[in-house]
Amino acid sequence: MAAGSPPRRIVVVGASLCGLSAAQALREEGFSGEIVLVGDEPERPYDRPPLSKQVLRGRCGPDTTLPCRPDLDLRFRLGTAAAGLDPRARRVVLADGGTIAYDRVLIATGTRARPWPGDPGSGPLHTLRTRRDAERLGARLADRPRRVVVVGGGFIGCEAAASIRAMGLDVTQVVRETVPLVQALGDAVGAMVAEVARGAGVDLLTDRGIDGIEAAGGETAVVRLDEGRRIETGCVLVALGAVRNVEWLAGAGLAVSDAGVRVDAECRALTPDGRVVPDVFAAGDVAQWPSAVYGGARLAVEHWGNAVAQGRVAARNMAAAGGPLARHDHLPDFWSHLYGLTVKLVGVPDGADRFAVVQGTLRERRFVGIYGAGERTVAAVSVDSARWLPAYRAAIAEGAPFPPFTGALDQPGFAPHPLATA
Ligand SMILES: Cc1cc2nc3c(=O)[nH]c(=O)nc-3n(C[C@H](O)[C@H](O)[C@H](O)COP(=O)(O)OP(=O)(O)OC[C@H]3O[C@@H](n4cnc5c(N)ncnc54)[C@H](O)[C@@H]3O)c2cc1C
Repeated sequence: MAAGSPPRRIVVVGASLCGLSAAQALREEGFSGEIVLVGDEPERPYDRPPLSKQVLRGRCGPDTTLPCRPDLDLRFRLGTAAAGLDPRARRVVLADGGTIAYDRVLIATGTRARPWPGDPGSGPLHTLRTRRDAERLGARLADRPRRVVVVGGGFIGCEAAASIRAMGLDVTQVVRETVPLVQALGDAVGAMVAEVARGAGVDLLTDRGIDGIEAAGGETAVVRLDEGRRIETGCVLVALGAVRNVEWLAGAGLAVSDAGVRVDAECRALTPDGRVVPDVFAAGDVAQWPSAVYGGARLAVEHWGNAVAQGRVAARNMAAAGGPLARHDHLPDFWSHLYGLTVKLVGVPDGADRFAVVQGTLRERRFVGIYGAGERTVAAVSVDSARWLPAYRAAIAEGAPFPPFTGALDQPGFAPHPLATA
């Protein structure tokens, strides 16, 4: 393909949320060439957020296939992993030995669940990332194991603990930190979530490590805590975060690390010394991009909204034949449903040193809180109170001070307190 000429075949590696939104956006941009989606999972792109919420509770089946317009004319290569990328020859190498030539390629391989060390992926240990994970876990929960142990205090661990408890099963959640969600939302909101979890009957053990998990025959296991206690269980859900799917890019000459594939604001992959790799783009959970909102700091988030937005920007730029490229200036946001509460976050609280509730109260479990770093407001969280969040979103995007609006506070006085996030 000559420089500046329109692409004829675009290959998207990773057939999930980001890949599908990019494919859809390519057609909206008027791209009429071939779009090939390569995915190692056998299913058409499906939605993951319901897996730890509605699916786990049995409120809907595990088929959460994403809507896809029938006229997109997409070619799927499903059940086929990409094993390599050769940017010089412009081709994707497949694990089955085949290759696919591209004019432009989008890396959208996302993340996978971090397994328990040494876990073969069977027996009493479970993770929750894929539809198959949800099916296997759901089948086990349907047998009503005596006690379920959830390991980890991040969003997926907390959502799953809430869903499993709502099914009437006994749940022990083991969290290494002082409160759940402390890294994502800080200690004040984490403490509220801990209170709600305990109120719902979850045996929440904080500040506790795990020395080992021993298989005890069939589906049973013993979880050994570092304090010496042993918990017998019929099901362990390991929710220790995610690992970015980047191994297949070894040797491709891209800047790749545990934090993902480094891209510029236009979603173009970079070399380790910061040069653009021609015709290679990355987006979604696997990408790490410089955020204009946060002074160029590199962000790598695992958020539904970012996967859609960044996939769309990448698509626009992949379809372009010359001219200015679009920038990914997205302000990250996230939502979660826990114990009947709707939690929404805008912005990135990493590095925040102060937190203040500005509307409602933690006690009522209905509030808006803001996070400050230095002089700036960097993020806002709402619990069952999202009405004002768009205003905070706009203020954060503009780099507003902390707090952004004094007149809007419904507290007796503005009372920020130091924030712990570990
Ligand atoms: C249980 C659960 C609940 C969630 N809840 C929320 C929520 O409430 N709110 C929120 O904002 N976000 C939530 N998320 C996160 C959200 O689902 C992700 O941000 C989103 O799925 C990212 O999309 P993606 O396409 O970038 O990556 P992924 O969805 O990870 O898709 C990547 C795809 O690429 C495939 N792949 C990997 N390697 C290869 C390879 N070498 N070759 C071919 N294919 C490959 C993967 O198998 C996968 O199908 C949740 C995630 C999970 C797992």
